[in-house]
Amino acid sequence: MKLYNTLTRRVEEIVPIHHGKVGMYICGPTVYDYAHIGHGRTYVNSDVLVRALRWSGYDVNVVMNITDVGHLTSDQDTGEDKVEKKAREEKKDVWEITEHFTADFWQMGKLLNIGRPNVVSKATDHIQEMIDLVKRLEQRGFTYKTTDGVYFDTSKLADYGKLARLEPTKLKEGARVEKNPEKKNPTDFALWKFAKKGEKRQMEWESPWGNKSFPGWHIECSAMSMKYLGESFDIHTGGTDHIPVHHTNEIAQSEAATEKRFVKYWFHSGFLMVEGEKMSKSLGNFIRVVDVVKKGYDALALRYLFLTGHYRTTMNFTWKAMDAAQKGYQKLVEAAAEFREDRSRTVLSREKLKGVDRLRKKFTDAVNNDLGIPETLAVMWELVKSNVPGRDKYELMEEFDKVLGLGLAEARQVQRGPTVPEEVQELIDKRQQLRGEKKFKESDKVRREIEKKGFVLEDSPGGAVVRRKLT
Ligand code: AMP
Ligand code: ZN
Repeated sequence: MKLYNTLTRRVEEIVPIHHGKVGMYICGPTVYDYAHIGHGRTYVNSDVLVRALRWSGYDVNVVMNITDVGHLTSDQDTGEDKVEKKAREEKKDVWEITEHFTADFWQMGKLLNIGRPNVVSKATDHIQEMIDLVKRLEQRGFTYKTTDGVYFDTSKLADYGKLARLEPTKLKEGARVEKNPEKKNPTDFALWKFAKKGEKRQMEWESPWGNKSFPGWHIECSAMSMKYLGESFDIHTGGTDHIPVHHTNEIAQSEAATEKRFVKYWFHSGFLMVEGEKMSKSLGNFIRVVDVVKKGYDALALRYLFLTGHYRTTMNFTWKAMDAAQKGYQKLVEAAAEFREDRSRTVLSREKLKGVDRLRKKFTDAVNNDLGIPETLAVMWELVKSNVPGRDKYELMEEFDKVLGLGLAEARQVQRGPTVPEEVQELIDKRQQLRGEKKFKESDKVRREIEKKGFVLEDSPGGAVVRRKLT
């Protein structure tokens, strides 16, 4: 399997460090606010990567962190801790905040059918590991202390910035960015921070460098990834925004401490824009997955939409694209449900067998070529339209879906048949049409009419399912 490696800027064959096994670290969320669909896209992309590797036969060990401390509002180590800020604004306990938004993150993952990592590690559960790593860097002469923290001296590392191809001589802190006069070099970053005088933090720890202190953001990912995956591991993922600072600094502090290559392949997911605008938690213009569901779309239709764009491209979310994705996804689900029920299994003719093999190969080639998921969807449609007998078609669709994760195996069609009276069926169809036109008030009205006639509709990943109302 080949993947684009940000470190080398090339598409490379994946050769894991340990034969047959892949160690993978996913940069997790900072749990100070709700997860938005941009996060959804990034984590769907890493989920597809995990599925594709497992489908290819690798034993994949996935570790993901939860950032619940140390991520400041500015990448320059000058801002406020995002979690503390939120807790202060909401007048809440920090642990309440992080628990609430962690739960929200998992809920989003469930809606989008994102698999759970093998290990989930919270930054605040790994304070000692982080202290040990900073101590190691201190012993090796890579650190210096200022009035506000312990910093990593980037001038001491010859290849600092190799991931982002930063040119140290040309690097200047932007004019608008608050400068830290005590930093020796603009790229130096905080490993450990001290609470400001008078600052009331809920999260602070004793450390060799001061009593009211807390970790810098980057150190958690180095400490936790190396704890669970070893000092050198295979794949590290995240969004492209993490290339110049967060991942660059993770590499610097890990490699300075161990003198080993930290990560072999860096996988970065392109950003999701909304109607052409940049979206981020900090800008506040975000759409959550539940917002999409509330509008009447299937969460898995959103996953389908994400899969139509290559993981490395910047993607623009529009409601028009969402409508089209809903239609496409619904058709796919209906096709899967129909073929699954097809009991007329035939012995495959040589010609049809060849067709199955050809489609399977085409699918595999697309997956192996830098995760060409948009191409795999085209293969899926080719299969749907092919002359392969229904039940065999379904089985291949199900196999492809192990990589895509569109929930086709659970898919159900809108039930039709003698158990549903004609007039109810008409209402179901009418509601479906209204939903397609995004007339949700009207479609809800129709749903109530259906209920009055003694039937209930349940929206499932596979479309609406109708049942008789129990009395
Ligand atoms: P954060 O919680 O903001 O640190 O983000 C968690 C992950 O989501 C990181 O890998 C980010 O790169 C990624 N991410 C944040 N915003 C977006 C976006 N708009 N589109 C795609 N990925 C994003
Ligand atoms: Zn990270």
